[in-house]
Amino acid sequence: MNSLQLSVTSLIGVTPDLAQRLEKLHIFVVQDLLFHLPLRYENRTQNRAIGSLAIGQKVLISGQVEFTDILRRKKRSMVCRISDGTGAINLRFFHFNTQQFTALSTGKLVSCFGSVRQGFAGLEIVHPEYKIVSALDSHPEQGSLTAIYPLTEGVQQTTLQALIKQALEFCVQQPDLLVDYLPEKLLLHYQYPSLLDALQSLHHPDKNTSLYQLENQNTPALKRLAFEELLTRSLSMLKHKSEQQRWKAVVLTAKQSIKNQFIHSLPFELTTAQQRVISEIEVDCNKPQPMLRLVQGDVGSGKTVVAACTALLALANDYQVAIMAPTELLAEQHYRVFSQWFKAFDYPIAFLSGQLKGKARERLLYEIDSGRARLIIGTHALFQEAVEFQYLGLIIIDEQHRFGVHQRLALSAKGQRIDSRPHQLVMTATPIPRTLAMLQYADLDISIIDELPKGRKAVITRVTPAERRFEVVERTRQWIAVGHQGYWVCPLIEKSEKLQYEAAEKTFQQLSVVLPQVRIGLVHGRMKSAEKNKVMQRFKAHELDLLVATTVIEVGVDVANASLMIIENAERLGLSQLHQLRGRVGRGSQDSYCLLLYQSPLTEIAQQRLRIIRATQDGFEIAEQDLRLRGAGELMGTRQTGSIQFKIASPDRDSQLLRPAQQAAHTVLQHYPASVEPLINRWIGDFIQYAEV
Ligand code: ADP
Ligand code: MG
Repeated sequence: MNSLQLSVTSLIGVTPDLAQRLEKLHIFVVQDLLFHLPLRYENRTQNRAIGSLAIGQKVLISGQVEFTDILRRKKRSMVCRISDGTGAINLRFFHFNTQQFTALSTGKLVSCFGSVRQGFAGLEIVHPEYKIVSALDSHPEQGSLTAIYPLTEGVQQTTLQALIKQALEFCVQQPDLLVDYLPEKLLLHYQYPSLLDALQSLHHPDKNTSLYQLENQNTPALKRLAFEELLTRSLSMLKHKSEQQRWKAVVLTAKQSIKNQFIHSLPFELTTAQQRVISEIEVDCNKPQPMLRLVQGDVGSGKTVVAACTALLALANDYQVAIMAPTELLAEQHYRVFSQWFKAFDYPIAFLSGQLKGKARERLLYEIDSGRARLIIGTHALFQEAVEFQYLGLIIIDEQHRFGVHQRLALSAKGQRIDSRPHQLVMTATPIPRTLAMLQYADLDISIIDELPKGRKAVITRVTPAERRFEVVERTRQWIAVGHQGYWVCPLIEKSEKLQYEAAEKTFQQLSVVLPQVRIGLVHGRMKSAEKNKVMQRFKAHELDLLVATTVIEVGVDVANASLMIIENAERLGLSQLHQLRGRVGRGSQDSYCLLLYQSPLTEIAQQRLRIIRATQDGFEIAEQDLRLRGAGELMGTRQTGSIQFKIASPDRDSQLLRPAQQAAHTVLQHYPASVEPLINRWIGDFIQYAEV
């Protein structure tokens, strides 16, 4: 076995206890140390003349002790003054002991490192690292810049530095340990350093390397690593795609009369974008390979009806269809909508609720297994072991960003037969920047619904400090008095679900008191889904005017008459959540409002988020801005499982690398197939393929 793949305990000085702490930094095997990159650097390569120091610099200096004294001003401190002929500076210690005091006696030579600041009497360094030395020129200068690593509890900086050094030395002594999988042509073309050179220059940069360039993360070494990571991400998706393409799938032929009957029964006309996407899907499903198509469309663009047309296609070809939604609320809503839309056709429709237990559940599982149930709607409960399908021809995943890449990949095996797999339609409302979509969804063909149904009006968005909440309450009263409906959202403030629900409950009670004429309902995540649905149905039927809710309504809920969205503590929500919540209104032809209440003071980021959400309603634009604000893996929303987490690359900082890395992935897949597995192991591990649903 390659010794880089050995546990870190194989290194000198790593106890099982330390190894366990290193796991918090995602360091398990020796190789992980190599890819644990510094946060910043310190320059200890040169002794600076004390007379030349300026405030704010972090410096290595050495000098002779002039005197050491204990001062008792406001706070007791020990001050040691040293000079080197060019000037003098004070070293100040607030924590010290007698030993230190005696060691730093007059005449001693010390070398020290720390930040220069303005002190009471001239320049000083507080709590420097220091060492008594025997001669001024024997100072411990280092040959390269010193890397400072991100740490975790119980792991010292010096420990980590030493371990990484050990790991690098391994690679230098045995050059075949660390294989460079980037083709040489590519390295030459981009003028990238080899892998080992890159790692060395990041961990131990030459003393002449520009600190500025290093700290702005703009070195060829870092770019090369980011490139390799992005390439590998892309590669794993391409590999998944080519594996998928080896499977067969049932050919679904268009049944025009059934489709027309359905479309003509709808209370609206399909938009051109919807029609285009539907025909793209029909072409896919007509092939003997599984479709793998992603439909991206902003909130309210009408993805459900596209899903319905696709479902109908499979049903009309006598196959079963499974539709998966991220929440019970949304699954139930789909169940209701599809039951209504497909009334004229008699395909038995089943709703597999996660709350269904005992006999009833067994009966339903039997219906699915025996093939009697044709269209099956549910949450991820659909893909548990116990659920067997008779002849599943199509899987539809709604709001896929709620599920996550790994889950999606794991799902493709569901409904698999000897040599065939179901077609897959994946829908997502969270538009992500195109370059990133190309990476995250590299295994999917993408269709975009880039048009909203006719007659939609922009939602008028206002941002209001919480102190003016009473005005908002009054506006709500007026708005509802003329027959409109609205949502009042209390987002997660407390970490615990219980406290969160209490906050919604409190708001509900309080609003009930101040708005006695208004019929108010409450939904939150802790309610039983039957209860939740009862409230939703009453709201939909306009038996309720105002719905107080936690963010459970963020996903997919559709009530056209609701035209007011109030969001409390809006400063706590991400751009995507705000956008999705606002997307709940503006669905009818009346004017709609979104009022964002915030608690002062706002952080800089929160201010920017609120500014963006007020300025635009275009999901793609919001996604681009979000990427700019957040950078890496946290893109859109609260750390959605769906977005990729990177080790080193950052889609924002490395946006220029995305496209070339994707091209390079094709090259590697075609011409260097032997590198595919090792690259994936290095950057992703093999957990993706085997992830649990
Ligand atoms: P999303 O893309 O967010 O899932 P939905 O599918 O829930 O959007 O559609 C939002 C609303 O728009 C629904 O009430 C739906 O019936 C309606 N709708 C969908 N397509 C059209 C259309 N072409 N014209 C008018 N209304 C439409
Ligand atoms: Mg939807």
